[in-house]
Amino acid sequence: MLGRGGHRNRESGATPVSFLPNRRVTGLSRQAAEAKHRQVRRGTRVNTRHEPTTGGSPSTNLPMLRTSERSTLKSCEWKWYLTYERRVKPQVDMPALRFGTLIHAALAAWYVKGVKRGEHPAIAFERLYEAELAETQQLYGARAGEDDKWVSAGELGPAMLSNYVDQYGKDDRYEVLVTEHPFQWVMPNFIYTGVVDGVWRDRSDKSVWIPDHKSAASISDSKLNYLQLDDQAGAYWSFGVMALKKQGLLKQDQKLRGMLYNFLRKQMPDERQSKILNGKRVYLNLDGSVSKKQPSPYFMRVPIYRDEHDKEMTMARAAMDAERIAELRSGARPVGKTPGQFTCPMCPMLDACELHETGNDWEGFLQQTTKQWDPYAEHEVYDGR
Ligand code: SF4
Repeated sequence: MLGRGGHRNRESGATPVSFLPNRRVTGLSRQAAEAKHRQVRRGTRVNTRHEPTTGGSPSTNLPMLRTSERSTLKSCEWKWYLTYERRVKPQVDMPALRFGTLIHAALAAWYVKGVKRGEHPAIAFERLYEAELAETQQLYGARAGEDDKWVSAGELGPAMLSNYVDQYGKDDRYEVLVTEHPFQWVMPNFIYTGVVDGVWRDRSDKSVWIPDHKSAASISDSKLNYLQLDDQAGAYWSFGVMALKKQGLLKQDQKLRGMLYNFLRKQMPDERQSKILNGKRVYLNLDGSVSKKQPSPYFMRVPIYRDEHDKEMTMARAAMDAERIAELRSGARPVGKTPGQFTCPMCPMLDACELHETGNDWEGFLQQTTKQWDPYAEHEVYDGR
């Protein structure tokens, strides 16, 4: 049986993927793989020509592609292979991912369409957190997923979001035109899927922006200098905007100014008294004077101006990633590993990978510790931003 993306899932039989040079897991012979490689190379030339298309549910059998898949691929092919080809993932997602999902959902409840704001995001977070915890416990047993990190996330989220509303108030500078909208866009060799966080009009100058909410441990300037090249924002700016126009949610001739990154630092707020001085919140000593020790910014909004050229660049890069995936799937390119201090320590597949590396029963381990998932199902795309 073919999965939604047109490629095989775990139960359906082996996909011709090889792990290391000249080593095949199953499927094609070496000659067949080479022939397939040539075919793949011919058939999947990097091609950014695209159909003006549905934006809804495409009927084509092309493979799906999403941004987190691309970043997983670029971080480590073996992690991509397990997660997106074998379609397994840990039974309970890592706390940082679960936290980001809840922050997005809470902000979606706040930024409803229009100028008036919706449910307070701190209250929404609490509601969603409780529901998520109850669901996890029901599925995987009492206290599953309720580790110390996740318990403190239940306090951190509402505190952060209360602080956010203190900072931006009703935020009525922005009119929300669209909030949390899933999209799909058909390219010649793949269908890109994602969820845009929204479309906001700045009422002060009528400029239109695509917001991208990001919760991060640190939001110092030095860590933000990748934003012009950010694949996630690039996907919103290209495939996402085209789909919104196709669906009539934006006018065809609507000009957008760029991306508006909305950073929230994952930190409990300073409990000292504060006041606004020269438009900025400052924290006070007990005697009411301004403290010399001020916290790093809790929030930051960073506008990044985008245009047609970087839209095309983004789409070309996505096409290259799709081509690389097609080659891995066909067996024309072996699946490698990218061990390292920046890839492995946070990798959810670390234990399985070590067992694989040392010749132990990694398949058995995977069966006991992971669950099947559909990476392209709409709710998973929502959760994986
Ligand atoms: S542990 Fe490292 S090498 Fe292994 S799959 Fe994860 S990132 Fe790749």
